[in-house]
Amino acid sequence: MDHSVQLHIAGSWRDGRERATLANLNPATGETLGRVAVATQADLDEALAAADRGFTAWRRVSAFERGKVLRTAASLLRERAEDVARLMSAEQGKPLAEARIETAVASDIMEWFAEEGRRAYGRVIPARTEGVLQFVVREPIGPVAAFTPWNFPINQAVRKISAALCTGCSVILKGPEDTPASCRELVRAFLDAGVPGNALSLVFGDPAAISGYLIPHPIVRKISFTGSVPVGKQLAALAGQHMKRATMELGGHAPAIVFDDADVETAVKVLGTNKFRNAGQVCVAPTRFLVQDRVYDRFVEGFVEAARAIKVGNGLDEGTTMGPLIHGRRLEAIEALVADAEAKGARLRTGGKRIGNRGNFFEPTILTEVPRDARAMNEEPFGPIALINRFGDDEEAIVEANRLPFGLASYAYTRSASRAARVAKGIEAGMVSINHHGIALPETPFGGVRDSGYGSEGGSEAIEAYLTTKFVTQADA
Ligand code: NAD
Repeated sequence: MDHSVQLHIAGSWRDGRERATLANLNPATGETLGRVAVATQADLDEALAAADRGFTAWRRVSAFERGKVLRTAASLLRERAEDVARLMSAEQGKPLAEARIETAVASDIMEWFAEEGRRAYGRVIPARTEGVLQFVVREPIGPVAAFTPWNFPINQAVRKISAALCTGCSVILKGPEDTPASCRELVRAFLDAGVPGNALSLVFGDPAAISGYLIPHPIVRKISFTGSVPVGKQLAALAGQHMKRATMELGGHAPAIVFDDADVETAVKVLGTNKFRNAGQVCVAPTRFLVQDRVYDRFVEGFVEAARAIKVGNGLDEGTTMGPLIHGRRLEAIEALVADAEAKGARLRTGGKRIGNRGNFFEPTILTEVPRDARAMNEEPFGPIALINRFGDDEEAIVEANRLPFGLASYAYTRSASRAARVAKGIEAGMVSINHHGIALPETPFGGVRDSGYGSEGGSEAIEAYLTTKFVTQADA
């Protein structure tokens, strides 16, 4: 399959008007896989006009028919899953097994929204006066500008596109320039299934220039962004200035609390897998591990052993369990975070270095006794670094969990029902997963609080952001 990617605007696949392109690089080898087209302002104007027309036509299609199209898209993606997963693994770096799961989950998400769009119910409100009918209808908000990153090239995009399309909105997606081909395959599945060309555009280019143009544009009625907190704050401010509805799925710094009554082996296994999945480039990755005194040494020992067992390599190679980081910038960022933590007194238990000098490989890294003023304890590392510290009493752990302004995912391991309840109540986060990793299913809410953003990208909450509420009251004439 082709790693060179064009724009999709107004029903056709084509280059940008100025024919500029960016390289699509393989992060495991540094080789150029293909080129991705760059959209100019003229291209964006065409995408906007298409989104406007697309919205007018697509909103008239019944929710039932829209659902059928989304279900067909899910089937097409399932049929193409192996090829798509290979594209993703090559351009993103993740192991093929993870890319396969991501592609399969995307089909599940499409199917969920295919059904959920049919449940955008209104209601009738009893009137105070005889002969008056009062009702509430939910209507699609309008053309959506969506911005999605490279860590899950399909799954960040599929949630936004599916929620928008199932409610009758049109979408302009600014896809990830670092992983454009797998994202294109997602868009192609929707279009091949029958989504009108005007209702779904795909553009790439300079992210700041594109968001700066699309967000204030009067045709765009809603924005949805997944990415870092600083960029999210800028885009949310811009959306606010122009009174645009926004969903912000931003960074996290997930606490993972292991109490002394926990099943430590399960905690090591599940948290270890989820720490290093996608080389730690996951907004819900467990990051600050808080382990109670009595089980601290056992947890650290097990975690170090699990990290050392990870096979780092090219995602396409058999047996690889962790791939490279997405680009050189992330490699430098991770190296700097580790150096800073060590300089401030953290103990490096394993890893800590780049592997080789070809590809963006970094060792699974564990730091313990990490001082609170280490940068990694405050900034989202977004890489394969686990920061493990010990705690004494339960309250101390909850205070540390809530110390940072992030509030996306959080994790806890305990056999005590009352401790579990205290954690669930006490942690300020959009998601709390206790004794297992149960986050990011299509039917469950997905989103953060505080600096991690607002809005949900899963569950029945997810379509709310794409709907407006209209109240109609009508008296007998
Ligand atoms: P980056 O800030 O350059 O880019 C992150 C993402 O935001 C990319 O998809 C990029 O296209 C987009 N982006 C950046 N500026 C934008 C703008 N002005 N308008 C619209 N989109 C914009 O950083 P990076 O090195 O690629 O990634 C590093 C950081 O990004 C990580 O530390 C992490 O916090 C964050 N990130 C978060 C997620 C997530 O799932 N929440 C995913 C990817 C990256």
